[in-house]
Amino acid sequence: MRHLVWFRTDLRVADNPALYEAMAGGARVAAIYIDCPGQWRRHGNAPIQRDFIARHLSALSERLALLGVSLTVLEADTFAEVPALLAQWVAQQGIDALYANREIGINERRRDRAVQQALAIPCRVFNGDCVVDHGSLTTRGGDMFKVFTPFSRAWLARVRGSGYRLLPVPAAQGAPVPAGTTMLEGERRCSAAWPAGEAAAGQRLAAFCAARLDDYGERRDYPAEAATSSLSPYLALGVLSPNQCLAAMEAELGQLPFSRGERGFSWLNELIWREFYRHLLVVFPRLSMHRAFKPETEALQWSRDDELFRAWCEGRTGYPIIDAAMRCLHQSGWMHNRLRMLVASFLTKDLHIDWRRGEAWFMSRLIDGELAANNGGWQWAAGTGADAAPYFRVFNPTTQSERFDPDGDFLRRWLPELAAVPAGAIHAPHDWLDRHCPGHGYPPPVVDHARARRHAIAMFDALKDREAV
Ligand SMILES: Cc1cc2nc3c(=O)[nH]c(=O)nc-3n(C[C@H](O)[C@H](O)[C@H](O)COP(=O)(O)OP(=O)(O)OC[C@H]3O[C@@H](n4cnc5c(N)ncnc54)[C@H](O)[C@@H]3O)c2cc1C
Repeated sequence: MRHLVWFRTDLRVADNPALYEAMAGGARVAAIYIDCPGQWRRHGNAPIQRDFIARHLSALSERLALLGVSLTVLEADTFAEVPALLAQWVAQQGIDALYANREIGINERRRDRAVQQALAIPCRVFNGDCVVDHGSLTTRGGDMFKVFTPFSRAWLARVRGSGYRLLPVPAAQGAPVPAGTTMLEGERRCSAAWPAGEAAAGQRLAAFCAARLDDYGERRDYPAEAATSSLSPYLALGVLSPNQCLAAMEAELGQLPFSRGERGFSWLNELIWREFYRHLLVVFPRLSMHRAFKPETEALQWSRDDELFRAWCEGRTGYPIIDAAMRCLHQSGWMHNRLRMLVASFLTKDLHIDWRRGEAWFMSRLIDGELAANNGGWQWAAGTGADAAPYFRVFNPTTQSERFDPDGDFLRRWLPELAAVPAGAIHAPHDWLDRHCPGHGYPPPVVDHARARRHAIAMFDALKDREAV
């Protein structure tokens, strides 16, 4: 028997159900990864993430080689060509069964259905990306939860009752084999600031749990501090699994925290948000299709001001916290969660620009770009999503900056033109700059926040009026 494991967003050998099951029965196992540069461009993913994938593939290839499994990288331009390519490969290599972990985007699901139709062999698909499998948590009426809190309660009850399944690295199927070449063609941007491979991800996880789990709840909103795990790039590509996160927490704390106030609960709660958005994406395919979760919000009258959009993208809005965050994204490929919420609120509720443009911009820049969390975060901020921020909740960028970067350390890190501004003036620095640094070049605010906020609320109120007619 020959089994083929098709790696996608599960670039790990530990806790990998498809790999584990393929190797369990004594069959000879080979592995492939199919690079689709055309699909990559269509999805608008970031060149820095592509580079990160290439580096993980190389690490994965080495780990698989030690298990006696050789990894081949194939290329198909788009998903449309994948079924024929796989059918040919399966026939050439004499494969008896295909193993893969599920991907949840609509295009990935369509591709997988086409693959199953094209292949004459069994295709076995597993849940490798959530602790609790998609679709298995429902309300009493059998529907998907649309609100986070009852979802999280059900999630916690399930894990408390049934635990979670953590799979070991499979036993080697023989002597090591040479590691294959795993080059990816196409545009890439250096991701070297992030160490690649499962071992690096595991070390980061262990270090976070040992040092930061306790004060995560209190410190996680301060972007100048390294108080969060920075594990999102690894979770997004499946280099790390959420089960591994739970196991590391449990090892550190002695048990999992199942209720608010227990040590580590705040971090677990974020992992549950991750699962909430993934479950939603499976049940509501429209979320993969650029459509709002709340259909009535499709009627919102968004601004098409390209100049304002460019100012936002390039960090030239005149609001330091927004500009610092956007320049951080541009230069590093990553952004802190509090800042993602602020810049998303600013784009949609201060500039009144469609959340879809922000979502796409994030995707094209983020090393951790991931459809479910990105879409969930954008629709939450825009007020169009499941359990979204209430439409009248509009973050004030200046008071948020004062609150979460009180000394201006984060601002100074990314805005060199504000290097000399004292903490008391840095959150709204124009008066100070005009007095002390004539010709400073830092732009004036592109909008008046108070007026922009009123306009945003009026946009949503207009929706209610439409419903009433
Ligand atoms: C507008 C917007 C866009 C976002 N886009 C993405 C994205 O493309 N990819 C992505 O992984 N996350 C995204 N997030 C969620 C969140 O900002 C990041 O997961 C988090 O900042 C990553 O930092 P961390 O690894 O230190 O997280 P930690 O605070 O250490 O949290 C641990 C893990 O939980 C998950 N997580 C944390 N917060 C959230 C959340 N709000 N929603 C879903 N999962 C969460 C992540 O996998 C994260 O690595 C977005 C949030 C917003 C508001």
